[in-house]
Amino acid sequence: MEYFHVKTIDDLTPDEVKGKRVFVRVDFNVPVKNGFVENDLRIRSSLPTIKTLLEKEGKIILVSHLGRPKGKRSEEFSLVPVYSKLKELLPEYNLYFVETIEELISRSKEIKEKEMILFENIRFYEGEEKNDLELAKKLAESADLYVNDAFGTAHRAHSSTEGVARFVKPAVAGYLIQREIEYLSKAIHNPAKPYVAIIGGAKISDKIEVIRNLLKFVDKLIIGGAMMFTFYRAQGLSTGKSLVEEDKINLARELLEESKGKILLPSDCVISDSFDPRNRTTGSLKTVNIQEIPEWGIGLDIGGKTIEIYRKEILNAKTIVWNGPMGVFEIEETAKGTFELARALAEATRQGATSIIGGGDSASAIEKIHLENEVSHVSTGGGASLEFLEGKVLPGIAILDKK
Ligand code: ADP
Ligand code: MG
Repeated sequence: MEYFHVKTIDDLTPDEVKGKRVFVRVDFNVPVKNGFVENDLRIRSSLPTIKTLLEKEGKIILVSHLGRPKGKRSEEFSLVPVYSKLKELLPEYNLYFVETIEELISRSKEIKEKEMILFENIRFYEGEEKNDLELAKKLAESADLYVNDAFGTAHRAHSSTEGVARFVKPAVAGYLIQREIEYLSKAIHNPAKPYVAIIGGAKISDKIEVIRNLLKFVDKLIIGGAMMFTFYRAQGLSTGKSLVEEDKINLARELLEESKGKILLPSDCVISDSFDPRNRTTGSLKTVNIQEIPEWGIGLDIGGKTIEIYRKEILNAKTIVWNGPMGVFEIEETAKGTFELARALAEATRQGATSIIGGGDSASAIEKIHLENEVSHVSTGGGASLEFLEGKVLPGIAILDKK
């Protein structure tokens, strides 16, 4: 799909917004504790879209999910704390809170320009996650214009992310989705070369499609994380007690053959004789060449020689996509591979490369060392960014108008 052609709020004429009821699907899925929003980053991230629509004199209807209430009303998943936070962030605008669809439809006809309604958690309706079109039609009754700015749920066809857009036109992307499209498209559309992808994380089975798709575009595909051991086994090496997906060894062999030498595997790794993921502890650590992993060895990070080789590849690249940590970065002693490559990514970016990070754990790794603003783009949607990199069509974006 040609994501470049998706219409955004900047493509709307003033008349398409002024006085119109604008249904904005936002991602206010924030952490809530004791009735208060713990981290308001996601709310603040949506402000450019909301403010622009307010300035263009729209009547704004904000719809989001929070957590997984599974179709039932509960205080735990209520958006009331978000309502308080939003009032704090936009004190100069009237904001109303509405709990049912019937009320949403009637209030949408009453509010004035530059006023806002926040709707209660859309997942209190059972039909939402089933993309129930009756629910979507009802939602559409409250809207003259649809804006999707919830990238994190764009890979799911739900009533408020895809269904409603079938019945409301224009249907366009907000600034958050626009930015995600702009950067993630570079990963699968005419990337500047050399192009290097770094793939790590726990399981090869989570990343097969990403690896397959990226192999079509990249010059080098760097492997790290636990999945490297499944690749080693495919090469006949012994991997001690490291994490291996036995049923994926053949697949790893196939990928190595398909890749025609593009796949780079680590030459050394950090091992321990014990590892307790729950308490985040290891035994004493040691770096060994990959041919020399002892029977008792549990591989937890890439080694120093590998870091040097990978660093050079990254610094030589013009486009870099990173998905999945190089080791168990949650533990300081085995975070070096991940953090050093993150630093290399920042350095390459300073030299003019485009660097894109997808995946929830990779994003939290780079935030841990405060380099999130030194790379070109950190994707906000874990699952959505993975599916984008897999080359899949995201239904919440595909349904939007084209230029
Ligand atoms: P992302 O969320 O960025 O897509 P993943 O969810 O695929 O990344 O993988 C992240 C997890 O992989 C982390 O919790 C990390 O501890 C784990 N991991 C990385 N390397 C290893 C390893 N060698 N052994 C066990 N777990 C690992
Ligand atoms: Mg993850």
